[in-house]
Amino acid sequence: MLQKVLIANRGEIALRITRACKTLGIKTVGIYSDADKDLMHLRFCDEAVCIGPGASSESYLNIPAIITAAEITGADAIHPGYGFLSENAEFAEIVESSGFIFIGPRPEHIRLMGNKVSAIMAMRKAGVPTVPGSAHAVTPNNALAEAKEIGFPLIVKAASGGGGRGMRIVERVDTLLESVQAAQRDAEMWFGDDTVYMERFLQKPRHVEVQVLADGNGEAIHLYDRDCSLQRRHQKVLEEAPAPGLPEEARAHILEACVNACKLMQYRGAGTFEFLFEDGEFFFIEMNTRVQVEHPVTEQVTGVDIIEQQLRIAAGLGLNITQDEVQLKGHAIECRINAEDPSTFLPSPGKIEAFYAPGGAGIRLDSHIYEGYNIPPYYDSMIAKLISHGKDRDTAIARMKQALDEMILTGIKTNIPLHKDLILEDKNFCKQAMDIHYLEKHLLKQVQGHENDA
Ligand code: ADP
Repeated sequence: MLQKVLIANRGEIALRITRACKTLGIKTVGIYSDADKDLMHLRFCDEAVCIGPGASSESYLNIPAIITAAEITGADAIHPGYGFLSENAEFAEIVESSGFIFIGPRPEHIRLMGNKVSAIMAMRKAGVPTVPGSAHAVTPNNALAEAKEIGFPLIVKAASGGGGRGMRIVERVDTLLESVQAAQRDAEMWFGDDTVYMERFLQKPRHVEVQVLADGNGEAIHLYDRDCSLQRRHQKVLEEAPAPGLPEEARAHILEACVNACKLMQYRGAGTFEFLFEDGEFFFIEMNTRVQVEHPVTEQVTGVDIIEQQLRIAAGLGLNITQDEVQLKGHAIECRINAEDPSTFLPSPGKIEAFYAPGGAGIRLDSHIYEGYNIPPYYDSMIAKLISHGKDRDTAIARMKQALDEMILTGIKTNIPLHKDLILEDKNFCKQAMDIHYLEKHLLKQVQGHENDA
């Protein structure tokens, strides 16, 4: 097994990784910025190294500082968590060329999937269905011909895109050229790469994704699917596993296609294939080459510890479960708890005055917060993930409602009311999974001051 892991992240995921390492008897090194001295996981890590000032660009994105921290502490591996450097191929390369194990895929696969055009091409070759579209760069010169093939409405997206930024829906041919040019400008500004591509805009899809684990030597398994359709501004708000109501045949086919693609690539580590699902069909949109925020819902329904598997794979031990051993048990839901104003969605950092963590059967809370903890203003506003698990979806929903009722969190504003009063009280959602526009176009319409959200 690995001897000492440096955790190149912060917040709840740093704590999650620390816990997994400690359970496996692996020593841990935490890193932190000046603004993060009070992070919970640092109390449990064997060592902690300050790597720079509060701004992420000077700390959690500071590659030389992170490599130096690994060198001075004698770590043998680096876990990047999610966000920050987790999908940065250059970072993975530097980690490996500096003599450390990168707990994640090979740099070439991070690079392949980091560019959506090359990712789509690779998926088509591997037999994974993609959205009808260009799968190559579109410029004002070829846009018209491409658009005729795809049809309207279509969506222009940045090849290097992420975080739901810079996508443009084009309804009619007369706005095509200006949309392509504007998307190119946005892509250059946000991602430093003006490559854009186009695909059919699906009207009412669900977001369904498949979790995979692969050993890097051609062995791969899936851990079934998740539904993450409840999104605001393309950011997931609530996720569940398994994805409700999928037709069995199409589902079996997509799970197998994902596993085959991993085998073909000799993919290494944990990964997620993201799809849009509409009218019984799956369309690949991107692959995330890291652990996902929503991994706990899959852990609850499969009993597989995904971080443990990542550590095993990185150590070269391979997977210790077979596909047949992965059995779905019940249903799980995750609510992302953000420090934000529930009506304006603006971040609400500050000191947590009172905190009571909910509990009981089927409840899991992944969070680094505690009473007196001061949420710094520099980072993502997600401060906790509340996960409920039960024998079926209704039970998971009922347990989640109770847990949200129990949770006390004062001193800051949170989106708990959004989960409690809006989503989990909604009859449609409680009956079935809704499409990706449902939260913004229907539920948020009810929130004061949010008339223009959609
Ligand atoms: P990012 O990496 O920026 O998150 P994705 O390709 O994963 O971009 O898309 C993010 C979200 O944008 C999807 O979950 C979906 O809500 C919407 N979206 C992307 N492509 C399409 C499409 N072809 N049709 C309809 N909606 C789309």
